[in-house]
Amino acid sequence: MAPRFNQPLGGNDMPRFGGPVTMMRLPAQDSAEGLDAAFVGIPMDIGTSNRPGTRLGPRQIRDESRMLRPYNMATGAAPFEHLHVADIGDVPINTFDLKKSVQIIEDHYRAILRHGAVPLTLGGDHTLTWPILRAMRDRHGPVALIHVDAHADINDAMFGETVAHGCPFRRAWEDGCLLNDRVIQIGLRGTGYGPDDFDWSRERGWRVVQAEECWHRSLSPLMEEVRAMIGDAPVYLSFDIDSLDPAFAPGTGTVEPGGLSIWQGLEIVRGCAGLRLVGADLVEVSPPYDPSGNTALVGANLLYEMLCALPGVP
Ligand code: MN
Ligand code: MN
Repeated sequence: MAPRFNQPLGGNDMPRFGGPVTMMRLPAQDSAEGLDAAFVGIPMDIGTSNRPGTRLGPRQIRDESRMLRPYNMATGAAPFEHLHVADIGDVPINTFDLKKSVQIIEDHYRAILRHGAVPLTLGGDHTLTWPILRAMRDRHGPVALIHVDAHADINDAMFGETVAHGCPFRRAWEDGCLLNDRVIQIGLRGTGYGPDDFDWSRERGWRVVQAEECWHRSLSPLMEEVRAMIGDAPVYLSFDIDSLDPAFAPGTGTVEPGGLSIWQGLEIVRGCAGLRLVGADLVEVSPPYDPSGNTALVGANLLYEMLCALPGVP
């Protein structure tokens, strides 16, 4: 009997180093029509402030996703038994114009959301989350936010510019995209200009969990608190790969030591199961700084875990 939904191309049908370079070797399609969830790439690094290269992130994540199998041995999730999923390709940003690019992204996500699909985004620098959240607001109203990152990304401006990868959550807040009593930022750390770098978030009513509070601990109890805080509100998950310690994920542009472990990252994403996730992204993978491919591979696995945590996957 033919499966009801799209399935990843299996390793017994085509060697894993062959076949299509789509996310999890899923079928590709041009739009989100008919889908429950869609993997979509945003090949962009023109919002970065330090090392570039995230424009190559989506295709490297797709390549490193080739070994992912459909069943989650840890959680028992079998997402392709319950959701119709495809890779809908990349957003055609204008790589010569960041401000035009954020408008292109916003319009593209409005179209995805009109189809009722949950977008799972392969980044791309973190600027992209702002236009996605604007599209989310217009579809769902203000959303709860789980933001995993070494950085707060709430700068008012960088080099005098208000659109940059260190500004998306400031812009989203200004635009009324967020439920301020249901925002949490996890993994923040490193050097700053002063306490306001993180306190601005706290003054908005957001919960800030700095990396040091996470050291040597399971984050499953924290995620229990997060689920209680968010309840049944629509929630967006934004996962910057630089939240992980550079020992695990060195292939990124703005590296800070003392970060989260892979297993803590998994606890966060798996801990989102039961929430009303309306979208998620995995950003800031920079292949030129990722010679082993390991950072992209970790990113691909986290995107699969996001799929496993979506509503509709028991
Ligand atoms: Mn970030
Ligand atoms: Mn970051």
